[in-house]
Amino acid sequence: MRMNTDALVLRVTDTGESDRLVTLLTSEYGVLRAFANRAKKINNRMHGATQSFCYGDFSIYKSRDSYIIDDAVAKEVFFGLREDIEKLALSQYFCALAAELVPEMEPARDYLRVILNSMHLLEKQKRSNGFLKAVTELKIMAFSGFMPDLTGCSKCGNEPSGEIYFNVADGCIYCKGCGSGERINSTVLAAMRHVCASPIEKIYSFSLPTEDEKRFAAVCEKFLLSQTGKRFKTLEFYKSLF
Ligand SMILES: [Zn+2]
Repeated sequence: MRMNTDALVLRVTDTGESDRLVTLLTSEYGVLRAFANRAKKINNRMHGATQSFCYGDFSIYKSRDSYIIDDAVAKEVFFGLREDIEKLALSQYFCALAAELVPEMEPARDYLRVILNSMHLLEKQKRSNGFLKAVTELKIMAFSGFMPDLTGCSKCGNEPSGEIYFNVADGCIYCKGCGSGERINSTVLAAMRHVCASPIEKIYSFSLPTEDEKRFAAVCEKFLLSQTGKRFKTLEFYKSLF
């Protein structure tokens, strides 16, 4: 079976003297691990396209029990992300999220678009790192089956106002009288609803006052960690920089 797909390189491991094992986020086949033989050699034509954060076109075939990349052409390399340790760390976290949460052998165009858009905005410094991190976390969670229920108070059904609680363990919101959880407000709730409900091209088009942005970022991260039950070394490294 031959597969032609665009993909982002999430992770690269050197194998043997000159080969690479590349984890790809492909638009057609989800997350896929494939060998790129001789790609470690600087004069190999796949050398550039099989490095971390490279987005390109890949030609892959299946050989017994492994996938082999036999051609790769880079379209975008995101060099700017390597020049700043925070941006580098955050991009590595985005890649780890994709590697962990995107299914294998299923189309993953939407995941790929979110990660690429976030990396592009991060590289161009269009939005704060914390904002991009939260939006990416929440949208990836929504795609991967962890859509929070933000329609109204989960117990009484009313639209909560003033003191609002977001329970990261059940992904529901509660009014002051009905439940507990992370305290948010109507501005943060509106931001969360916007990210969950909007098409990808609109998810970044809002802004929050500084304190609300901090709260928004804190609850998105807590929600992701609570729902997935995972530890991300890349996230811990990113946070160790502050
Ligand atoms: Zn209620």
